[in-house]
Parts: sequence; structure tokens; C-alpha cells
Amino acid sequence: MSNVHSCAMSPIVLDIPAATLEELRVRRSKRKSPPAGATDRPILTTVEMVQRLGAIDPSSLAKAFCEDMDRLQAEVEDEYDAFLLDPGMGPMTYITTDGRILNDYRTWDGEGIQFETSLDRVVASLVVGAEKTGVASLLNLIPALENGVPCTTCNGTRWFKLQNGEIVCPTCSGRGECPNA
Ligand SMILES: [Zn+2]
Repeated sequence: MSNVHSCAMSPIVLDIPAATLEELRVRRSKRKSPPAGATDRPILTTVEMVQRLGAIDPSSLAKAFCEDMDRLQAEVEDEYDAFLLDPGMGPMTYITTDGRILNDYRTWDGEGIQFETSLDRVVASLVVGAEKTGVASLLNLIPALENGVPCTTCNGTRWFKLQNGEIVCPTCSGRGECPNA
């Protein structure tokens, strides 16, 4: 039997300090309650929403979408002991108590739940999560680069300015530093 282990496809696992977990738990305990009542309506995806724009009143579509997000947030946070990092317009992104980044694609294109295997995307999720949750210590989970030098694209700020707003720096994935070439 081969003992080759495909590390490239394994989820990245972070070690979350107790203080950061506590901050995340306090924040989660204040989350909005999901809507009561029947929940047999299929989850509305962003892709479907765009397809149905024009056919249905946009405000009722938006309301259904937000209800789905609240419902899925409660479900994933309880089932996986996870914390929402980014409701996003793509997948909803969470960090689990055991240190994995979880992407829930059900509100995006109807795909299911996947654990993140790319370190670059884990770093970017932590940067966005720290910003959106206000739990700044999430940034401490980003593994430091050995011999890293400040990223010249974002000047170490982790963010890249666009005309309308900013995105996580595409050069360094939000580390703020790059390997010393
Ligand atoms: Zn950068």
C-alpha cells in the first residue's frame, strides 16, 4: 500500500489561540436569529437570482436571499462549530473551531461545502474576516514567511485600492509580504 499522502489536497488547518476563539464565540452569540417557519423552499443562489431578475420583484428576491443567508449561517455555525468570516457575494466563508476555512457555495452556485486547501486563499479569507468581523487577532493566524520582504504592490497594507473600494492584495494574498526572491 502506498503511503503517499496528497498534502496538496488536504484542508489547511490553523491553530487558533484561546483568546481569539473566545472573541469569535462572543461575536457568534450575538448573531441574528434565522427566520422562523417553513424552510422547504430551495436555497436561492446568486446565479439564479441574476437569472430571475426582471421576472420577479427584486426586493422580494433580495429578501429571500438574505433569509437564506441567515438560515445557512445558523446551520453551518452550529453544525461545524464555525464562525462566519465573510457573507460575501461569492461563497459564504467561515473558520471552524478546529482551524479550517470552510466555504459554503450554496448561496453562490448551489455547490456544497468545501474546506479550503489553498494557503493563499486561507490567508485572504483571514484578512477579509478580520476586516468584516472586527476580530483583528485573526491576522495573527497567518503563517509568517521566512525572509519575507514587504509587498511592493500593497506596501504591506494587505489591500489593493480600486477606484470604488479595495480588494485583498492579489500579489501577496493579503500577507503584506512576499518571499525574498
Ligand atoms: Zn500585497
